[in-house]
Amino acid sequence: MDPSSGTDVFSRRESEVRSYCRAWPAVFDTAEGSRLTDVDGRRYLDFFAGAGSLNYGHNHPVLQEALISYLRGNGITHALDVHTRAKAEFLRAFEEIVLAPRGLDHKVQFPGPTGTNAVEAALKLARKATGRSTIVSFSSGFHGMTLGALAVSGNVAKRSAAGVALGNTHPVPYDEPGRSVEDALEPLARLLRDPGFGVELPAGVIVETVQGEGGINVARPEWLRGLSTLCRRYGMVLIVDDVQMGVGRTGAFFSFEESGIEPDIVCLAKSISGYGLPMSLVLMRRDLDVWSPGEHNGTFRGNSPAFVTATEALRTFWRDEELPSRVQSLGERVAGELGVLVDEFPAELATRGRGLARALATPSAAHADAVVRRCFEQGLLLETAGASGDVVKLLPPLTVSDDDLATGLGVLAGSVRAVMAGSAALAG
Ligand code: PMP
Repeated sequence: MDPSSGTDVFSRRESEVRSYCRAWPAVFDTAEGSRLTDVDGRRYLDFFAGAGSLNYGHNHPVLQEALISYLRGNGITHALDVHTRAKAEFLRAFEEIVLAPRGLDHKVQFPGPTGTNAVEAALKLARKATGRSTIVSFSSGFHGMTLGALAVSGNVAKRSAAGVALGNTHPVPYDEPGRSVEDALEPLARLLRDPGFGVELPAGVIVETVQGEGGINVARPEWLRGLSTLCRRYGMVLIVDDVQMGVGRTGAFFSFEESGIEPDIVCLAKSISGYGLPMSLVLMRRDLDVWSPGEHNGTFRGNSPAFVTATEALRTFWRDEELPSRVQSLGERVAGELGVLVDEFPAELATRGRGLARALATPSAAHADAVVRRCFEQGLLLETAGASGDVVKLLPPLTVSDDDLATGLGVLAGSVRAVMAGSAALAG
């Protein structure tokens, strides 16, 4: 056996903190589009897309060409936040292709290149701009792993690793489709209205329009509009964390476009570079740009190769409506296929989602894990999500071909049926 194919070096040397590799015990080597190949030559179909950071698939040839020619031309790779051609071109493309057509005039901050760092910056900015300290967050929300972002995340296991109290936040229930919009917003409305709670007015609210890690929970557009109204009424900064659902995952470039709200701050990361290269952005309403120079600094805010692929991705995919409409139609197709499974097991399964962020909710984490394991054995990469890990999450690249989508959905359906046939054993 080729020594490179063993996994022993990882178990011997890499920290116990590693996670995804435990569900997928392969050694991956190359990737193209929706397909990966491991060191033994086995092929896999990718319905996880780097946790949503590869919306255009792996190694998209147009982005790859732009990156290679930039590197060959000795383009600057590391630049702190000095002015560079790569950054200027990105900002111009972002203005022209994303902001202007949507009537947005937000300023752009380049924080450290992770979603978590974008969230940290957004929270600090909301607090600084309002002079208040509390941030409202939602049940099952996820915003990252550093202390500030963790404090607004609902995952108990991840919060407990903080080692210190996570404060200055106030969690309230996320939208619940079974309730009226007014009822679903009432816990927050009451907290703000009723001085008996003794809660100081919050600086801001951080929300995902569709909760990714939380299990693809979809907020209704009317609920988002109601939330936006509450923010205006009480002077709270509305932060939309579009790290996972932005850049076309739900169809439109921003996931909030469907609802018509205009967030004060937007966090983007994951797929913004288009190539899986680390990059993140904080977009802020012009009057909220109250930072002093260097107040949220960082060494890796000038990842120029990421700016190059990001610019090329905007030019390639966002000058027209082809990608958003394809995401809608593929999303409906996935929903239809998942609906067939739900019809077969109506008491046990449920499906939900928007665009190409889709979920199959199963009876337990054991069921979801078993489905993901069976899919892996047949060469399909998927992950679980949800507060109790009982959701199978589908995030295929937005550029997935019809054939690959059909193949993956077929593998998933077979795996779900096999797991449900042995469901009694899992439940026991
Ligand atoms: N916000 C959301 C909505 C996310 O899904 C994630 C990552 N899953 C983050 C923030 C954190 O991003 P990163 O892992 O790049 O720090």
